Amino acid sequence: MSAPTEDPGVVIVGAGQAGYQVAEALRQDGYEGAITLIGDEPEVPYQRPPLSKAYLLGETDRLRLKFRTEEYYAEHAIVTHLHVSAVSIDRTARTVTLSDGTVKPYGALVLATGARARPLPVPGADLAGVHMLRTLKDIDRIQADMATTEDTVVIGAGFIGLEFAAVARKLGKAVTVVEAAPRVMGRVVSPTLSAYFTQVHEGHGATILCGAQVSALTGEGSHVTGVTLADGQTIPAGLVVVGIGVIPNEDLAKAAGLACDNGIVVDIQGRTEDPFIYAAGDVALHEHPFAGKKLRLESVQNAADQGRSVAAAIAGIDRPHDAVPWFWSDQYDIKLQMTGLREEGDQEVLRGEMDSGKFSLFHFRDGVLRAVDSVNKPADHIQARKLLASGISPTPEQAGDVGFKLKDLLG
Ligand code: FAD
Ligand code: NAP
Repeated sequence: MSAPTEDPGVVIVGAGQAGYQVAEALRQDGYEGAITLIGDEPEVPYQRPPLSKAYLLGETDRLRLKFRTEEYYAEHAIVTHLHVSAVSIDRTARTVTLSDGTVKPYGALVLATGARARPLPVPGADLAGVHMLRTLKDIDRIQADMATTEDTVVIGAGFIGLEFAAVARKLGKAVTVVEAAPRVMGRVVSPTLSAYFTQVHEGHGATILCGAQVSALTGEGSHVTGVTLADGQTIPAGLVVVGIGVIPNEDLAKAAGLACDNGIVVDIQGRTEDPFIYAAGDVALHEHPFAGKKLRLESVQNAADQGRSVAAAIAGIDRPHDAVPWFWSDQYDIKLQMTGLREEGDQEVLRGEMDSGKFSLFHFRDGVLRAVDSVNKPADHIQARKLLASGISPTPEQAGDVGFKLKDLLG
């Protein structure tokens, strides 16, 4: 396919999950103008989830991380500018300036700049052997250090920290997880599930320290050797992986005067207040009909669906980004699948037996189903997604009764 050269077309900044999805969906929707994909990483877009799971374990290779090979972009006239950053936007001239000095005109601009790992704000965080986990480059460095060290400390018991901890234990490393909050994965799961996952990790030999503040990382020469906590104890560490959340890459948008509020503010189809600029993925803050409020979601589903919505908006197609959110995490032999959005104070109902390692937790607000977390119960997860999407709610009693067939509610 060849694109007209005089048409500035669509310029996408950020060659990650959302940026890739916008480009692919534009072509699928029949958009024939020029598409330029600008990314500051050296690789064509790749999947991040396997970085803390199968790829780290050596169960999948680099090639399979890519959404598409280089040939796909050439065949679909998607021009990639990789290893280069967009540094400023001129909204009047409708151009983007890149770090190599190129000034790129756009007809439509998509900001899919994602998020960056939050740095650990303590002395010693810059020692060798201390890593964030966001990119392939991070994984290359982590794997190099893992080959030469046994003592691993993970800071942050969110998804990144716990997925990494599970892999490190599978690889035989000594693992201590340090979490500032009182429980693991506190941002996303209920206390019941936090307690369950703590037991799972401890059962696999990891040490989990909650309510623990890191005060410094100590080293010999330039390399980390320990993690010192506020109570004075120092945990030996040859490798430290930090997973304490992310910061949206909204600086480019902010500098261009676009509304940002811990994320670039967009509507239900990813439009900013500027009719020529859109945003999608981890960086976008959007009004979510299911939540009934503005949300910035950090997930594959969100980036992919919002990317498709933005492509549709550019192509003049109505395709709102309104699907019920879902997420997953793999830790040891557990597949945790979550759908909907739970809140503190929701009524929790157990379906199944936790001891069996296969169960779901249903969360109700005012008697209405709002979220379901499933542990090795993919069928519950699929049915929960359908129920939440259709607005049909089981009663708490029905949800808790394994003899009651949820699919009967769906007709
Ligand atoms: P990204 O994928 O981060 O892409 C943004 C890209 O833009 C990056 O390459 C960035 O470097 C680039 N960029 C930023 N600024 C500029 C600029 N100025 N110029 C050029 N380029 C720029 N989600 C799930 O749902 N399930 C999972 O199991 C899961 N596992 C994960 C595991 C790991 C290790 C990580 C890091 C994330 C995981 N996620 C998971 C989250 C998911 O990967 C993200 O939500 C998703 O990648 C967001 O896509 P995005 O395109 O918005 O951002
Ligand atoms: P996260 O889910 O926000 O978890 C970070 C955890 O670190 C939180 O529990 C946080 O507690 C804690 N923390 C914050 N500051 C700390 C400190 N100084 N010391 C110790 N703990 C601290 O983020 P993440 O795990 O780093 O993940 C990063 C991104 O990757 C997110 O966008 C995430 O969604 C994505 N990701 C997703 C998956 C998945 O969906 N399966 C897997 C991996 C990564 P507080 O909440 O109290 O601040």
